[in-house]
Amino acid sequence: MSMLLTIKGIGPKLKDKLNRNEIYDCFDLINKFPSRYEIYHLTTLSDAADNIRVTLEGKVTSVPTVAYIRKNFTKLAFKVIIENRPFSVAIFNREYLKNILDIGEDIVLTGTIDRIKNTFTATTLKLKRNFKNEIEPIYNVDGVGDAQFNKIVKLSIIEYGYLIEDDLPESLRKKYKLITYSELLKLVHNPITKKDLEKISRRIKYEELFKFQFKMQYIRLRNKTKKSLSKKYDINFIRQFIKTLPFELTNAQKKVTNEIIKDIKSPYVMNRLLQGDTGSGKTVVAAITILTVLNAGFQVALMAPTEILARQHYKTFSNYFKDAKYEIVFLSGKISREQRKERLEIIKNNSQVLIIGTHALFSTDVRYNNLGYVITDEQHRFGVKQRQKLREKGFNPDILYMSATPIPRTLAISLFGDMDISTIREKPANRKKVDTKLFRNSEMNLVHMIIEDELNKGHQVYVVTPLILESEKLDLSNAQKVFSTLNKRFKEFSVGMMHSKIKQEDKETVIDMFNANKINILVSTTVIEVGVDNPNATLMVVMDSDRFGLSQLHQLRGRIGRSNLKSYCLLIHKDNEEVKERLEIMEKTDDGFKLSEEDLRLRGPGEFFGARQSGDIKFKEADIVRDAHILEIAKNDALEILDNKDSYYQKQFQLIFKYLKSVLKKSNLD
Ligand code: ADP
Ligand code: MG
Repeated sequence: MSMLLTIKGIGPKLKDKLNRNEIYDCFDLINKFPSRYEIYHLTTLSDAADNIRVTLEGKVTSVPTVAYIRKNFTKLAFKVIIENRPFSVAIFNREYLKNILDIGEDIVLTGTIDRIKNTFTATTLKLKRNFKNEIEPIYNVDGVGDAQFNKIVKLSIIEYGYLIEDDLPESLRKKYKLITYSELLKLVHNPITKKDLEKISRRIKYEELFKFQFKMQYIRLRNKTKKSLSKKYDINFIRQFIKTLPFELTNAQKKVTNEIIKDIKSPYVMNRLLQGDTGSGKTVVAAITILTVLNAGFQVALMAPTEILARQHYKTFSNYFKDAKYEIVFLSGKISREQRKERLEIIKNNSQVLIIGTHALFSTDVRYNNLGYVITDEQHRFGVKQRQKLREKGFNPDILYMSATPIPRTLAISLFGDMDISTIREKPANRKKVDTKLFRNSEMNLVHMIIEDELNKGHQVYVVTPLILESEKLDLSNAQKVFSTLNKRFKEFSVGMMHSKIKQEDKETVIDMFNANKINILVSTTVIEVGVDNPNATLMVVMDSDRFGLSQLHQLRGRIGRSNLKSYCLLIHKDNEEVKERLEIMEKTDDGFKLSEEDLRLRGPGEFFGARQSGDIKFKEADIVRDAHILEIAKNDALEILDNKDSYYQKQFQLIFKYLKSVLKKSNLD
């Protein structure tokens, strides 16, 4: 028999409804907290403003009438006296209340009043004798009313609530003066005052953020104790390589290189994120650290999210390492069978080789030989599972994730709490700031003139569109159309096109031609966001730029300004003040971190959440932006417990470790 049926008031029908809402037993029921509260604050006429939601007490003075206005739309009307003043009440789709409203009945109405017309348009009506709470829990359980749900939850708590222990450590609960779990259970379904709501919210927020951090920090610390093979390399060889670079490393590059090499040297596994704007010089840092590991006698795998980017890397690294004696192998799903066979053979037999490719790197037939270091570029495009797979290909290889999307600090501590983070904030000194200008859709003539100017100087141009083809739903520019417009307008120049639907070989041809200046204008979707590197491209026009996030625009803009030629980015947008205001930030700053923080503020964390496949980072009550300070505090609290080896044996922490064990098991991380 279902445990649910032991609760008075739950019969088979209600049980089925609860099941459909994923409530299978009384503990599920107990753990179902209200999704929000409706607040009814009983007030008086003198305190009530017109046309603002108010709750007032009155007495029914006429027999209610029902008018059927149209299908599924009824109006119940009657008169009331509120503090000696008559009002005509209207309430919609509540015709069933007609029979319970007798003349003389005391009721509580919520809605808006109009004192000129003496009307009360009500949204809620309760009998005075049933009106207990100013605050009503709303559960959003499909098919079960809030009052009914509230009743069965409370009964479940009485029956089984005592079986649930409070796993939040007492010391922390006391430190922040949080209510206990049993107090929470009592309050959460029955709050009386706003103060109660605050107590509920504080407890839930802290608990979920603390538990989240406890898990993340545990994983991070545990990874750190995982042994890796210690890597010994010849420091002079590395120094020599750095000397051959055509430039001096920036201080930021030196700092992060040291951080990474220190981890590589250590006998423990590295799990590190390297973040920095496009062009901040991450690739060189990767090159130095790759060489270190190769020199120590290990294989290195570098994984890119797209074929284009992987090929680009292959070229870049072949160039960096042209004088080093190490072999570089390219692997993707696109190479021929013979080539693949040949390369797999090299990977199997040669223990000092750099393997660059797409996710083909973790196909089962790839047998590594002493894989010591794995780098994944633009790591957010890979799922957690995929990375795990690659990690399993070596004996705990050191892992570096590279990302050109700067993550705001507030998000980094939650999204990447299980990793160490190295950040490059400074750009090479010779980098020229890209001049960014806004243009309205109606100013395309002007934009064409600017394009012409750049082309006449022998420079090249990117034109970015949000869509590939015309869309019936969205009135946005598409690559196809823009391509044909530009072709007509710039007859003496060559226009090329790039998007995800173009065949791989053709993509490569287009990129090669663009790099060789045989294509002057490249019309593209955001596929060029990463990996395309043509220093002669000095102008980027982004159509419908208001459709993109600031971080993404910044990413796109990173394609230009890659030489000492002055570069320009033109953001074409619809004529709208709000849109303009947001885009103007692009004119003012080229600091990717600032822009991502701005994105976070304006568009919320969704954009970044999409960035990391993770169901874990959804909170019921906490908001990782608004509550970032709690997240930080929770992190320190978690670390304090985890850093102390005795904690595990202390009674007050037993339940939180038990919790940890269960979540690790659930997410297959134990
Ligand atoms: P990222 O990978 O962060 O986008 P790259 O490593 O590709 O950046 O560097 C972008 C460009 O800047 C490359 O052409 C590179 O040669 C150059 N570069 C890198 N570091 C420096 C530096 N310290 N000084 C001058 N130029 C640099
Ligand atoms: Mg190591």
